[in-house]
Amino acid sequence: MVKLVVKEARFSSVAEVIERLNPSYPVFMVFPEILKDRARAFLSGFPGTVLYAVKCNPDPHVLRALYEAGIRHFDTASLPEIAKINELFADAHCYFNHPVKSRGALESASDVYGLEDYVVDHMAELDKLCDVAGTDIIVEVRIATEHGRAVYDLSSKFGARSGDAVALLGEANRRGARTAVAFHVGSQCPDPDAYRLAMIDAAEIIRQAGVPIEYLDIGGGFPVEYGSPVPPMTAFFDVIIRARDELGLSMPLYAEPGRALSADGCSVLAQVQLRKDGDLYINDGVYGCLAEIQLGGQKPPLRALRLANGKCGPVSGATRTFRIFGPTCDSLDVFKVQFELPDGIGEGDWIEFRRMGAYSIGMQTAFNGFFTDTVVEVAGLNGA
Ligand SMILES: *Cc1c(COP(=O)(O)O)cnc(C)c1O
Repeated sequence: MVKLVVKEARFSSVAEVIERLNPSYPVFMVFPEILKDRARAFLSGFPGTVLYAVKCNPDPHVLRALYEAGIRHFDTASLPEIAKINELFADAHCYFNHPVKSRGALESASDVYGLEDYVVDHMAELDKLCDVAGTDIIVEVRIATEHGRAVYDLSSKFGARSGDAVALLGEANRRGARTAVAFHVGSQCPDPDAYRLAMIDAAEIIRQAGVPIEYLDIGGGFPVEYGSPVPPMTAFFDVIIRARDELGLSMPLYAEPGRALSADGCSVLAQVQLRKDGDLYINDGVYGCLAEIQLGGQKPPLRALRLANGKCGPVSGATRTFRIFGPTCDSLDVFKVQFELPDGIGEGDWIEFRRMGAYSIGMQTAFNGFFTDTVVEVAGLNGA
């Protein structure tokens, strides 16, 4: 079948996407109104500056919706991310929040894009940073958090231990740079208390360093619901505000949510290409936009859809458990988690994987020739 090239396509519903495209290829669906709603809720609830973590979903449709909702600050980790944000939004503010940067990337970030804020977690990186970008900058010292409550622990790779963090802050200050402190409790962290514990560590490091702190960046990690319930975002904000007040942290707070802003606002629409009893072979998988189902063991909400006489509707009837295989020839391309779907589902039906805005289109590979390049916008707040 000839693939339709869909440019800047807008649809009023998921049903309309299926009725108009009858897609035999996977479609990444963006719901701008949902993205805007989540961004506005975070902006109004969080007591500080909100940076969107671009790596979570760098699709321009997503970035534009978040910008329209009022996001002006972006957590970027590479030169291409910085370039993209600068191209899209003239008044955006980027932060170079990767603790390991090449000299070339630092030079462009500093000289071409004029970035001011840079994360470090090691003395050799501070040397490199000052060497290339000078000291008229804000050095954000990323500290390790060791409380291990998230699905993805990010402190096994990055973050200075407390003594090193104190030394880094002192040295950056001695060289004439301004200083800030950052942490990340880990992605998909369901426990608000992880933020309080990390803030206690940060407060102690700040006290020992004894240098002025421009801001405390409490990172991302805010969870969304994949199968098991998570506390509402307001529970996280309450804990953070209380910890800030109890610890006497009077500097501005920053946060870098990725998942909490983007997850709810996108779906992956995949088609069943073959059914073998309890096994479904679909056209997206472990190497595509659905990678995080495997990596995080997540169970996003799904629904099965069918086109009959030009009209799209749900596949109804009793459900059963299915194994789902992706499109590549690799035998690892099968989800470890199994999914409950109507027993009547078969070739040509679609599965909408909902809440797939985070770590999806930004993580896909082109392995075996399978790559999702059709992105559409769907109106409305309920994603119907
Ligand atoms: C990945 C990342 C984020 C976003 O994390 P989420 O769990 O998606 O909120 C924020 N900050 C840094 C430094 C990151 O690496």
